[in-house]
Amino acid sequence: MSSLHGKAAIVTGSTSGIGLGIARRFAAEGVDVVINGLGDAAAIEAERAGIEAEFGVRCLYSSANMLSGAEIADMVKLAVDSFGGCDILINNAGIQHVAPIDEFPDEKWEAIVRINLVAAFHSVKAALPAMKARGWGRIINIASAHALVASPYKSAYVAAKHGIAGLTKTVALEVATAGITVNAICPGYVWTPLVEAQIPDTMAARGLTKEQVINDVLLEAQPTKQFVTVDQVAGLALFLCGDDAASMTGAILSIDGGWTAH
Ligand code: NAD
Repeated sequence: MSSLHGKAAIVTGSTSGIGLGIARRFAAEGVDVVINGLGDAAAIEAERAGIEAEFGVRCLYSSANMLSGAEIADMVKLAVDSFGGCDILINNAGIQHVAPIDEFPDEKWEAIVRINLVAAFHSVKAALPAMKARGWGRIINIASAHALVASPYKSAYVAAKHGIAGLTKTVALEVATAGITVNAICPGYVWTPLVEAQIPDTMAARGLTKEQVINDVLLEAQPTKQFVTVDQVAGLALFLCGDDAASMTGAILSIDGGWTAH
């Protein structure tokens, strides 16, 4: 039986893409999971019920909007009240917008920073007491290669992702003796709806075709010339929650096909 069996996890932004892959991977290890994110209510309920049926764990849905600190605190309370704790917190929810900075819509800039960075402050703040009470916890922030390097036209995203790397290191220091580790995973391009959705804007911003965006912009950065897979990111998150990773904390871990080796 997995060493994580019976633990409780929250995965933000897990109605799609990387978060959904992580939630399913942890459920397969016997972890009770709170899923969260936006989307069609019936599709989310089907996913939630499917996780319970397929993996024999408890799975709850929190509709917390990552723009609201109060709703984030309620999401953590749901896990603690229902599962008895919140052992694993994966801050994954994120959005993107691609535009030159002098044309960047103010409200997009603000939403990106709040969802990709400020939400993690609120969730960590709410979850730490439960982790400290058990003397064990794992916090994983899904950052990005853009936590380490920049790309043009992504000012808000790059700023938020660099910010979450700093948050990761700071919290790791604060809880280092409490049995809690805090790490960031920095994927390169993973084929998910988030990547697919930014193709039209990148086509417009750079005057390129879809194929040119995929090959010359996205995979241009990635020496392997392959997208990272959701399963590979989920596998790294799982490793970080295991006993072998107990001494890994404050780490900013690349999984980017060599992108940031440039
Ligand atoms: P995605 O668009 O498939 O999923 C994003 C999730 O966040 C969805 O569940 C969505 O509902 C949720 N979300 C968005 N706004 C929200 C809000 N206000 N409140 C609650 N939930 C909200 O994206 P993805 O590619 O799976 O990205 C997941 C994370 O991985 C993001 O933080 C992203 O920055 C990061 N990332 C992705 C890639 C990539 O290439 N796909 C690369 C590096 C990092």
